[in-house]
Amino acid sequence: MDLEDTLLMMPGPVTVTPRVLRAMSKPMINHRSAEFAGIYTDCREILSSIFQTKNDIFVLSGSGTAGMEAAVGSSVGSGDKVVAIENGKFGERFKDIAAIYGEVVPVVFEWGQPVNLEVVKEKLEEGAKAITLVHNETSAGILNPAAEIGKLAKKHDALFIMDGVTSLGGDDVKVDEWGVDIAVVGSQKCLAAPPGLSVVSVSEKAFEVMKDVTKRPYYNDLLAYKKSGDKPKAETPYTPAIPLFYALQEALHIVKEEGMEARIKRHRVLSEAIRAAVAELNIEMFPQLNEYSHYSNTVSAMKAPTDVTGEDIKSDMKARGVIIAGGQERLKNKIFRIGCMGNVTGRDVLSTIQQLEIVLNKHGYIDRLGAGVEAANRVLDRA
Ligand code: PLP
Repeated sequence: MDLEDTLLMMPGPVTVTPRVLRAMSKPMINHRSAEFAGIYTDCREILSSIFQTKNDIFVLSGSGTAGMEAAVGSSVGSGDKVVAIENGKFGERFKDIAAIYGEVVPVVFEWGQPVNLEVVKEKLEEGAKAITLVHNETSAGILNPAAEIGKLAKKHDALFIMDGVTSLGGDDVKVDEWGVDIAVVGSQKCLAAPPGLSVVSVSEKAFEVMKDVTKRPYYNDLLAYKKSGDKPKAETPYTPAIPLFYALQEALHIVKEEGMEARIKRHRVLSEAIRAAVAELNIEMFPQLNEYSHYSNTVSAMKAPTDVTGEDIKSDMKARGVIIAGGQERLKNKIFRIGCMGNVTGRDVLSTIQQLEIVLNKHGYIDRLGAGVEAANRVLDRA
């Protein structure tokens, strides 16, 4: 398969522009120098506006999960209660991480089911040091109620730790307004940089809490990141992945050039176009919503049609040059997912839908081509 000809429509890693690829090939520099401090500071400034926060921002060498572990491990100690909300695979991951560092109070919903705020409230009333939420649950294509969880966390004086791995940079994430104490994003998702970095924002309240945690992680200790980040020439505690920082800086400039408002709108329109197309093809969306949940604006999860599995669709699409995702673990074969993160265009979505129609037609699920493309195009034209 010619990778240059492949259309990457999975929920990360996403296509990286030639500008970003070229940036990565620059010569190495001293990571304790004004040059590196300049790159790090520039990245942090742009990230602050993407996160909509005045909190400190750190860039960690390690994928999104490293950021999740840094967040929980730095602020939760043995015996500390963590309310961990799960309605998909990444909520489960937060729960598993919290179980290593503290005492988990699981709040588990079927994957793809909405979060019931009443249940969360009851658990918080019993007392907790922190609460974890995945804002955009990539495994199920559902957008969870971060603002509401932020309000509950504040009321019960719990740290709000939020995975924004697949929402930050593509959707509206108001870290300060929602009271998110620690927010995490991965480089390879909506920011459209290569995989390998995670970005974490940390509130003053979270730093205070961390000071009392004696067994914080060594490598991903956020207090160590603060100490190095506060130096007049900002640094990271250990040698950073310099080529990835070059790439991130360039990717962030692309985000800045587009503007977050336009970028959020583009992600919303593209996912609306996908939803309109699949509805026309008689494919059902997977997530179940309530008044506080929404379909994700960065990844769409659909139920596989009868007699065709999610893996069939994924592999047939791959054979036609379009990489989409299937379901993870218990959702394998039951669903398939189309991402529209990063710098995806309307043309990419139309090509994806066109190939999906051909695949569904081959399986005898639809008998004529064009209805999905037409529905998607109507949404794109309207925007
Ligand atoms: N959280 C969410 C919501 C994700 O979608 C992912 C990856 O897909 C992760 C966390 C884990 O990120 P990584 O694979 O970069 O460690």
